[in-house]
Amino acid sequence: ESYRRFNLSWPCDRQILATVIDRIRSASPRLIGLDIVFAGETTRQSDQRLAEAIKRAGNVVMASYVGTNGERVLPHPLFVQHALAVGSVNKLSDPDFHVRWARAVELSSVLRAESYAFEVRVAAHVLGGTPQFENETLRFLAADGRVIRHLPLRADGALHIPYVATASDLTVIPIYKLLEGDVSPELLRDKMVLVGVSGRIFHDTFPTPLGQQAGVFIVANTLLALLTGPGLQEVPLGVQWLWLLLSGFLAAWATSRLGPVPALLAALGLVGACVGASVLLALRYWTWDLIGPPSMVLMMFGMGTFHRAIVLAVESSRLRLQATTDAMTGIANLRYLQVRLQHELARAQRYHLPLAVLMFDIDHFKSVNDRYGHAFGNDALKALVNRTQRTLRAVDLIARYGGDEFCVLLPHTELRGAVRCAEHLRAAITQRPLDTRDGSLSITISIGVTVTNGANAMSAETLLEQADAALYQSKRTGRNLVSCYDPEARGHSNGRLDRSLADGRGGRSQHR
Ligand code: GH3
Ligand code: MG
Repeated sequence: ESYRRFNLSWPCDRQILATVIDRIRSASPRLIGLDIVFAGETTRQSDQRLAEAIKRAGNVVMASYVGTNGERVLPHPLFVQHALAVGSVNKLSDPDFHVRWARAVELSSVLRAESYAFEVRVAAHVLGGTPQFENETLRFLAADGRVIRHLPLRADGALHIPYVATASDLTVIPIYKLLEGDVSPELLRDKMVLVGVSGRIFHDTFPTPLGQQAGVFIVANTLLALLTGPGLQEVPLGVQWLWLLLSGFLAAWATSRLGPVPALLAALGLVGACVGASVLLALRYWTWDLIGPPSMVLMMFGMGTFHRAIVLAVESSRLRLQATTDAMTGIANLRYLQVRLQHELARAQRYHLPLAVLMFDIDHFKSVNDRYGHAFGNDALKALVNRTQRTLRAVDLIARYGGDEFCVLLPHTELRGAVRCAEHLRAAITQRPLDTRDGSLSITISIGVTVTNGANAMSAETLLEQADAALYQSKRTGRNLVSCYDPEARGHSNGRLDRSLADGRGGRSQHR
């Protein structure tokens, strides 16, 4: 934005930054950290102007960096001679491109401190000491040798950046405001003023005109860690492993014992507990990195739980279907018939509704098998079921009773309606041949009918026995017939049925 306003391009003339330093200096800051590396020379006039600005300020800490080939890139000697100190600004980027560690110390090949970070140089001046790195500890020593502050660092001299400051904790002033003279000196008086090229991004490197570069926010947070004393303490490796095992165990326990939703809630609770424990264990600062491993474990178990829940749901619905249907014809099996019959019977008795049961069996089906083969017989059974289903109402249930015998429940149906339905079914099957893959087949069926009016107590078994007995009667008296169970005869009568249908609408029950 600043470059756009002043119609500049990067790198801009050093005189511009000399003006910026002058403006900051005039507000009497405690220190100016210049996170811009002025390597090499440009024009004599501009370089001179910048050198003078640095000299006039007298409290400028300048940036250097280690190049890709390991060479140290320092500001031009003209500037270094007037700088308070020069420090390295290299940051360590994790494989996910996040910056979590800052190099507080650049180590030589023999692990000696070769140079200190820009932030360490700034901190040294603010604290009034000299930095010293030894035994993985960074100390700031006073002139009399007293230790002002000591911090644990990683063996390679890296300092964890705790990111305790957010953008709103820092006063951010765009350079154009300084150039326009639009900044109250009060904002800068006695402050550490960090000048840098940076996106307004907090936790990461950011593409700048100089390429991927750590921004002033990272510098500010590293500096804060140095100034506020021992920051995040590293959790010992043993504790980290224990942590991982514990979270794995808890996750396994939760997911094996709880359903998906409670398991998810438990997992969230566990992450919350991890956050709390992390804060306690780390003693001072919270960082998301601490719940990385437990969250990963939880996520894995979470996904496992959901996968298991889905597989179980699919599997159980498949099993339920298997347990209630006949594999070959796809209609209800005997077990489901018994359940439904009991249910319908209870309803019929509760509301005094009639309930009819038809039992039918193919006539001489054995000979069909014998003549055309079992596979053809199967096809014929399927075709029969198909046609039967089209004949029945949606509320009726057809079930395979066994072999070539089927049972139909007709809820809310009285004897006359049941017989009419049976006749209709018999006609539908016998009047037109069944279509199978290997040709058509004419068959006949025998049907037995029984009805309960819901008034008398009656068991499902009895009802089925009655229907079966009526079917037997049809078989006995010539097949291709509809017979009704006759309680008075304690047997089965077609004659009685004939009378009941003598109203002229039902047609004959005994006919071929
Ligand atoms: P009827 O009922 O008229 O007395 O003579 P039927 O020849 O049909 O004799 P029954 O009902 O007693 O025998 C049933 C026959 O149905 C026996 C068997 O060959 C055949 N069957 C039973 N289940 C199946 C099946 O799943 N597939 C095939 N293809 N045939 C079956
Ligand atoms: Mg049969």
